Amino acid sequence: MKTRLLVKEGEYRLAKAFCMDAKIDAEELYCFLTGMDKVALFLRANEEVDPKTEKKYFDLIARRAERIPLQHITGTQEFMGHTFKVSPDVLIPRQDTETLVEEAARTIQSTPKEKLTFMEKLRGVKEWEVLDLCCGSGAIGISLAKICSNIKVTASDISSAAIKVATENADNLRAKIKFVEGDMFAPHAGKKFDMIVSNPPYIRTAMISILQEEVKTHEPLGALDGGRDGLEFYKIIVAQAADHLKPGGFLMLEIGHDQGEDLRKMLKDDGRYTPAEVIKDLPGKDRVVKCKLRSDR
Ligand code: GLN
Repeated sequence: MKTRLLVKEGEYRLAKAFCMDAKIDAEELYCFLTGMDKVALFLRANEEVDPKTEKKYFDLIARRAERIPLQHITGTQEFMGHTFKVSPDVLIPRQDTETLVEEAARTIQSTPKEKLTFMEKLRGVKEWEVLDLCCGSGAIGISLAKICSNIKVTASDISSAAIKVATENADNLRAKIKFVEGDMFAPHAGKKFDMIVSNPPYIRTAMISILQEEVKTHEPLGALDGGRDGLEFYKIIVAQAADHLKPGGFLMLEIGHDQGEDLRKMLKDDGRYTPAEVIKDLPGKDRVVKCKLRSDR
């Protein structure tokens, strides 16, 4: 069979199984199998595929048609231009989360010079101590460390399996990150940071059952379920982050598209934070909430 027809048949089988991006996934799986990139696939569309490759391709298609996430088949996901290893132990990094990383990086890079301490002035940069809470695959903390040279990232997660994946990602991408295992702020007793970033679980429990098959049966529930109102982890973060931020330190959280107002109110009612800014993602939905620990306390 010609490459073009093979991939078309793959697309057809995926579409029949109600896979969302059947065409993209059919091409991705062919590229994954053969090591080709999309350009090569296009240029070689009329070449014959040998029967062994054909069989292997349809085996991959069959797995994807069972609604196993593409990333669990290929074992990777691109995020902020880097290739992250993923497994069923971690949430697959979403493009939405790049909004949080970009905003955090911009914040770090645009800190006014006069805020530097004496040692930082000597070095010409401010050293930021950043905490990535609920780090999962490590995508946020590692990406930040790759963009900003003047930061020290600590990343933690309650799941030891996630920490294992994240550590592997940091090694592969040559990012120096301190990983610790533990529940929320428990492993950070007495530590204060210049910035806390987090993408905690925020889906309402009742909504889990209507998520896509790929997400609800293959991604870790512990990384998704934010409790009855979806806000359980934000309550813990808002209550405890203030004790783990230096005065003027930033708190930056990913949120669900309809949680901006809830978060703004929670932070305001707490009283220890500056008024929160809600930042939109590329499709224009509320995605990140950003505030500072008030320095006048
Ligand atoms: N954005 C993810 C999803 O919709 C959820 C991430 C989270 O709960 N932190 O699948």
